[in-house]
Amino acid sequence: MDGAQDQQLLDIRGLEVDFVQPRGVAHALRGIDLQLNRGEIHGLVGESGSGKTVTAMCITGLLRTPPARVNAGRVLFGGRDMLQMTENQRRRVRGKEIGMIFQEPGKYLNPAYRIGEQITESLRLHFQMDRHEATRQAREFLGFVGLGKNRRILRSYPHELSGGMKQRAMIAMAIACHPALLIADEPTTALDVTLQLQILRLIRRLKQEFSMGILFVSHDLSVVREISDRISVIYAGRIVETAAAHRLFKSPLHPYTRLLLLSIPDAAKRGMRLKTIPGSVPDGEHTPTGCGFHPRCPLAEERCRHRTPPMVDYGQGHRAACCLIGEKWIDS
Ligand code: SF4
Repeated sequence: MDGAQDQQLLDIRGLEVDFVQPRGVAHALRGIDLQLNRGEIHGLVGESGSGKTVTAMCITGLLRTPPARVNAGRVLFGGRDMLQMTENQRRRVRGKEIGMIFQEPGKYLNPAYRIGEQITESLRLHFQMDRHEATRQAREFLGFVGLGKNRRILRSYPHELSGGMKQRAMIAMAIACHPALLIADEPTTALDVTLQLQILRLIRRLKQEFSMGILFVSHDLSVVREISDRISVIYAGRIVETAAAHRLFKSPLHPYTRLLLLSIPDAAKRGMRLKTIPGSVPDGEHTPTGCGFHPRCPLAEERCRHRTPPMVDYGQGHRAACCLIGEKWIDS
């Protein structure tokens, strides 16, 4: 195995997922390719309904089949295909090797159990720790996430904590077993700006101190930019562009990425006109033919309706899928 493969933690190839519904089949993912290395924060960004959360659920093994149906692809985590595991195997990986944090900690934390019990449970389950040692470690993690090491938080029920404290408690639970991979699905969306910055700082520390690979899922490109080393842009169930974060912001190639960049408020600060993207993400039952973005793309030509653009590497791992790169450009 070469060095690059040694570093690779997650390797998703050709992932296709449908949802079978009474009124028809919805194509949620149409060939996702995504790689993430140890010690890397990879931002996955796109509008609601683009396939971000379904991708995250495939990685964690939380996708319910049915109604979902995996048609093709593999999700290799540490060399093992999550899609081929039994539910018991996936449950052992989840929590211990893959941690998860979500937008709404209130839904994730069990209201009937104290915070301390919820953190120590996974330590006792996965590492057969005795209660005393598990409690000691839980206090350490609560200290790490900024909740202090005193016993008050350990003894609190979720409803006794503020939104920001719940978010930190959920992060403490997610990292208690030192997972190699952390999936953060819109973890800052419900928080005010100050708390958002604190949580982003905390996630960055997780990468630095534990060498965790982190998939940071968000609809908000300005938040993703704050934290990511690499960014993949997803649209209608496909990755349309992926690049190192600084490169994606400096030289975006795909018209969708370009429009997303022009639609974030700080584009105005740089003297650019703020743009909105006309229309909305197609639902999976009505995915356009050819390039999925053509009904909304200001550059679309007839050929875009018929040809699905392949992902092309433009150097240094900067890949994009558009037939017209180098021929046409969206002006600011
Ligand atoms: Fe736009 Fe055509 Fe490129 Fe799709 S392939 S993004 S429709 S220019």
